[in-house]
Amino acid sequence: MPNPNYNNDLQKSPMPAQAPEIRNKNFEEVALGYDAETAVKEANRCLNCKNAPCVSGCPVNVKIPQFIDALANGEFLRSYEIIKSTNALPAVCGRVCPQENQCEGLCVRGKKGESVAIGRLERFAADYANEQDASPVTNDIEQKDIKVAVIGSGPSGLTCAGDLAKLGYKVTVFEAFHTAGGVLQYGIPQFRLPKEIVSKEIESLRALGVTIQLNMVIGKVFTVDELFEDGYKAVFIGTGAGLPAFMNIEGESLRGVYSANEFLTRVNLMKAYDDKFDTPVKKSQRVAVVGGGNVAMDSARCAKRLGAEVYIIYRRGEAEMPARAEEVHHAKEEGIIFRNLTNPTKILGTDEVTGIECVEMTLGDPDASGRRRPVEKEGSNFVIDVDCVIMAIGTTPNPLIKSTATGVTFNKRGCIIADENAKTTADGIYAGGDAVSGAATVINAMGAGKIAANSIHEYLQNM
Ligand SMILES: Cc1cc2nc3c(=O)[nH]c(=O)nc-3n(C[C@H](O)[C@H](O)[C@H](O)COP(=O)(O)OP(=O)(O)OC[C@H]3O[C@@H](n4cnc5c(N)ncnc54)[C@H](O)[C@@H]3O)c2cc1C
Ligand code: SF4
Repeated sequence: MPNPNYNNDLQKSPMPAQAPEIRNKNFEEVALGYDAETAVKEANRCLNCKNAPCVSGCPVNVKIPQFIDALANGEFLRSYEIIKSTNALPAVCGRVCPQENQCEGLCVRGKKGESVAIGRLERFAADYANEQDASPVTNDIEQKDIKVAVIGSGPSGLTCAGDLAKLGYKVTVFEAFHTAGGVLQYGIPQFRLPKEIVSKEIESLRALGVTIQLNMVIGKVFTVDELFEDGYKAVFIGTGAGLPAFMNIEGESLRGVYSANEFLTRVNLMKAYDDKFDTPVKKSQRVAVVGGGNVAMDSARCAKRLGAEVYIIYRRGEAEMPARAEEVHHAKEEGIIFRNLTNPTKILGTDEVTGIECVEMTLGDPDASGRRRPVEKEGSNFVIDVDCVIMAIGTTPNPLIKSTATGVTFNKRGCIIADENAKTTADGIYAGGDAVSGAATVINAMGAGKIAANSIHEYLQNM
């Protein structure tokens, strides 16, 4: 029967947000979320397609038409339970997934007008359930006396842990930092992903019976072999890609040069933005952030909120930027100055940073990545006066894990080699997320964690 409340607006219902000139001075969340009325109205834009192309764009196969249908009927908690049945972190995904390239990119409504706002609706359902303190019913799990270790508490590790706990395994997550969540905690800033949301999602995993041991650097405290000796029957490695890359140009060791990783960790995890916390982060007047991905946008927007004038220096054009379109849009609204087609050649200063020398670029033929290759314009060098430079040009997996997992092999980029079932070259050891793929996305890491949990279950059943 046709939906009598069908909403044929061509545009998504707009997301309420803090005004740019206010939010660029605080760390409160930028996007404020739909209210119930807007969520129902937006849910009624969905055609409830039989073949649901949106679902095939989701690495964890969220039952999208079903959860949206429940929302359209005002059944908000049921909607949350539908999402939660395949996605361990819906409040996170609703905020940070690049939906435009995934579910929403395949939405039929997007052929004429804008797609259904799947991400915003997911966020609404998750926030509603969190406000009600609702956890999905989990009391029918048959417990197994089998221990599994998960190394790393980022989205891959948390998803793997949650899925294994739902299957009844005794799961312990070992996390190097003093707080769980991986990049969700120390990378993505508070104004995009409030840390209370991450903590709440982690609490719901603890409620499933997952144990999280913090300050446990595997490779230092225990080796992977020692975990097996301690009775763990399988191990999942989800240690991410936290080793920052630098450009190897002159001046990178001057005071005032940070990797984005260090800068964001100081701001997010050590709360350098809050005067109550005594974390040293240089209070800069003029900051250059080098790079064009989400990490660069996050660093720039944090530096802006700490009071600086901020430049993004990116060697390609805006069309080639890997950052989510929404992040670029928000950064521009907040007053970040974009110097695209520009590449640093040298960081200036004797002890501390005083400037960054750059060269203008043009775009040549496409390279191996399919994007047009940047080429230097000879003699176009110029200087931007800055007192801080943040390098956000990529990361690779932390090499520590290499020395601790006997039999696990790595490719030349330092990523763990694992097959399509997340199985590594060592018996009983599985891996996924950025440690395998290199820096990617939250939902891909979660998808890998899910696949690994299934493979580990199969392995343990056949042992
Ligand atoms: C600043 C920033 C912004 C981003 N923005 C987005 C975004 O908007 N949308 C999106 O989809 N993706 C985004 N990403 C990418 C996304 O966050 C990652 O792809 C994702 O977090 C990878 O998950 P993971 O589980 O593989 O690893 P991580 O999230 O990196 O977690 C790995 C965990 O393992 C721990 N660990 C490492 N070594 C050890 C060890 N030896 N022993 C114990 N624990 C260890 C680490 O401390 C960490 O907690 C962003 C990344 C960054 C850095
Ligand atoms: S493709 Fe779009 S319209 Fe169709 S079910 Fe998915 S969200 Fe709804």
